[in-house]
Amino acid sequence: MMSWALPRSAAALACAAIVAAAQPAAGADDPACHYDVTLDDPRAARLDIAAACDPALSISGFTALGNRDHWRTDPETYGDGKGRFTYDLGAFARAEDDLGSAMPFGGAVLVTPGFLLPLPETKRAVMLRFRVSFPAGGTILTALRPDRDGYYQVPLLRLNEAGPLILGDIAGESLAGDPELTLAIPSGTWRIAREQMIAWVSAVAESNRRFWARSPAGSGLVILVPSKRSGVPFGRVLSLGGAVVTVLVGREVSSQDLYDDWVLTHELLHLGSPLMRDTGAWLNEGIATFYEPVLRARAGWKSEDVVWHEWISQMPRGMPAMTGIGLENAGRGGIYWGGALFVLMAEIESLRASGGRTGFSDCLRSVLAEGGDVTVKWPTMKLLDRCDALLGQPVIAALARQHIERGSALDLDRLWRRLGVSLADGKIRYDDAAELAWLRPLIIWGGTTRPAPISAGGFLGGG
Ligand SMILES: [Zn+2]
Repeated sequence: MMSWALPRSAAALACAAIVAAAQPAAGADDPACHYDVTLDDPRAARLDIAAACDPALSISGFTALGNRDHWRTDPETYGDGKGRFTYDLGAFARAEDDLGSAMPFGGAVLVTPGFLLPLPETKRAVMLRFRVSFPAGGTILTALRPDRDGYYQVPLLRLNEAGPLILGDIAGESLAGDPELTLAIPSGTWRIAREQMIAWVSAVAESNRRFWARSPAGSGLVILVPSKRSGVPFGRVLSLGGAVVTVLVGREVSSQDLYDDWVLTHELLHLGSPLMRDTGAWLNEGIATFYEPVLRARAGWKSEDVVWHEWISQMPRGMPAMTGIGLENAGRGGIYWGGALFVLMAEIESLRASGGRTGFSDCLRSVLAEGGDVTVKWPTMKLLDRCDALLGQPVIAALARQHIERGSALDLDRLWRRLGVSLADGKIRYDDAAELAWLRPLIIWGGTTRPAPISAGGFLGGG
């Protein structure tokens, strides 16, 4: 029989973070359920879904995560691992209005694969393969890549790691200079013009491309979701099968608010490194947390003083992990600044060991050039060992031994003195005679001179 689970999405609207993971290398041999999804109308208000699972799976029923009020099935066609469904996706999305399941998106619907497909009732590893047709119009925006028969695939047991897709009347915006990224933006929902939103995402993507020396995403989807809250209250990356960056943007934001905000820069930085989870999330979060203000300073959206002010004020939050419990034991409160402090140390030690020629950021670029982006999973030490290989000496592995499993002593005040930077009475002061003062421009600007600012497309100043 058919059974229904009540909708319960756990969309944690807590903090900017990578939630999940990477496409398994295999899976093609797993038994599959195939779905043919047809949009009955261009806005994806109603779908017709034909499901058929491999007979070897002995599937006796399907579970729809959506509310049963929005699903109908024909008993004549239901059984033996097959089913034909009518799904009122538009009504479900209006009722749910949730990033983690489904929500209206202009003339389209944003929906996660787990809430799009009726799921086979089994605990086995099953590949869900679906394709979508549009006889009445409409389209799909997704970071998933279709196979040669037009099927997208998501493993049943890892559905919660797959990002949302968008079905209906929507045109993806390509970003100037970044053919790898597609922007999904509903029309007419913000106080500022659509062109201003697109210019902002393009500029942030450019700041990332400068850092990575290429686009950080093999192919990615950036989704801007209007929010009643102010500023840019939330962002996250889901990367199973393709990177999806979802960012909430307040309906009332000004252009100035957007360029003053950190979330989108942080999330796009996540795209350029492999997902590392064997020792916790601290290195992924440390990379994004450390380089976010750096990228914004290089783009001209933040002053060097403000970057040092932020680091001197915030880096102490990483000290319990770096000096005590160790980075892999850091809780949610410790991974961001604990990781950022590790990356600062890694940058300094790499530059010192190489006479200023090679920084930790050069290592990150080499890893990305090798294909290590967020859609693949690496052990933490694989990345750190790449850095030592680039340096030709065991600098970063030694640093890792001192701070990952457990912490060891670190004199942060002395580090700032050696760099020749201090914070007093709310003001940053520099001492160019300090021992490591020569590293400051390399850390902040990535070279000895300040790069040219990235244009905000003429939208700043007027709000
Ligand atoms: Zn993050």
